[in-house]
Amino acid sequence: MPSEQKLSEILKEFAHTLLTDTPTQAILDNLADGIVEALPVTSAGVTLIVPRKAPEYLAASDAAALRYEQLQTELAEGPGLDAFRSGEAVFVADLQRETRFPKFRARALAAGLRAVFTFPLHNGDERFGALDLYRETPGALSSEAVAAAQTLADVTSVYLSDARKRYELQELGRAQADFVSRISHELRSPLTSVLGYVELLSDGASGELNQEQGRVLGIVDRNSRRLLGMIEDLLTMSSVEAGTCELVMTDVDVGELVERVRDTMAPIVVRSELELCVDLARGTVLNGDRDQLERALLNLVSNAVKFTMPGGHVEITTRSEGDDIALSVRDTGTGIPTEEQRHLFTRFFRTVRSKENQVPGTGLGLYIVDHIVALHGGRMRVVSSPRGSTFTMVLPMRGPAPPPAPTCRSRSDAERVSSRL
Ligand code: ADP
Repeated sequence: MPSEQKLSEILKEFAHTLLTDTPTQAILDNLADGIVEALPVTSAGVTLIVPRKAPEYLAASDAAALRYEQLQTELAEGPGLDAFRSGEAVFVADLQRETRFPKFRARALAAGLRAVFTFPLHNGDERFGALDLYRETPGALSSEAVAAAQTLADVTSVYLSDARKRYELQELGRAQADFVSRISHELRSPLTSVLGYVELLSDGASGELNQEQGRVLGIVDRNSRRLLGMIEDLLTMSSVEAGTCELVMTDVDVGELVERVRDTMAPIVVRSELELCVDLARGTVLNGDRDQLERALLNLVSNAVKFTMPGGHVEITTRSEGDDIALSVRDTGTGIPTEEQRHLFTRFFRTVRSKENQVPGTGLGLYIVDHIVALHGGRMRVVSSPRGSTFTMVLPMRGPAPPPAPTCRSRSDAERVSSRL
């Protein structure tokens, strides 16, 4: 008689782990363990079967279950394989009397097995493998125990189906990120060369330029730099998504950082007829990646300049907030409608007004800023009204906290298994 309470505990834990990032291996190991506690069996295993490939063991409650799973794989014969092929549960209440799997029967009996109950794992047309329950004494399972095992097999099937879809989506995402990254690399080299030649021409290396030639070359330079900025954003996006965006941590003097951004922006600020002010808490130093933080701040200031009308103001301020430093960029620009603010850090998001007015941009800037700040263990804050916006990077002065130690149980058997979904 299955323990109803134990069964509902297993299902509850199962539902909980589906909402977290618990690895498939750990989820199925827990399931196999739980089955042994809830049902009158000695061990349990899950085998994943990929068509036209050898079945692969996925999880087992103990070494005995692992041996029985491997035996079926090795012999290409057994009740689990039959359940997978037929889509029907296969029950062997007394292995000594069984005639369907002679090779498996002989070896399993010698290893101490007396009864097997296997349930196919499938969701509609998708087939995954089988949930196998083993017992070292003969005898049928009660109808309640069969119903409970069937429920667990059904839940496991839905989980595997979902995990497979997530895995395929991740693979697709990885392939896309890889493609974008490779194309961006290819585009960056010739563009860097173009910019080099533009600089040579501007310096008069090929003869003095007249005013018109200088003006035209200025346009080529600006547009090439814009293109280079977009390529850099795409490269950063793909490294963020591939999880390969790593920080080079040093002590960063925030004042120097702001000055460098101010210098870079100075020509654009003048051209846009704006005023750029800086109000700094002196001597502020934080632990971070200088280049990435500069890139983030530059992005915020470029946006402020882009969305502020001539005659307006942009201000960069720093303020300490406990153990954090708040680095803000305030503008007197167009502002962002309240209903659009929550999408600001989404990849490729641009406000309706930006799109309607054909303001140049990719919608990647804030997405990247948000990731850089998050990698530093910080957070973004936005306040906006029709009179202007303030974007604030709140960064811990001591840098990001170390990641928490993994809490997931690992077992040597499980580690040797390749989880194929
Ligand atoms: P991009 O500027 O390349 O479009 P971002 O991710 O930096 O991409 O910004 C996303 C959108 O957020 C912009 O297109 C714009 O609509 C809005 N936005 C960002 N910063 C500001 C700002 N300071 N003032 C008004 N709108 C802004």
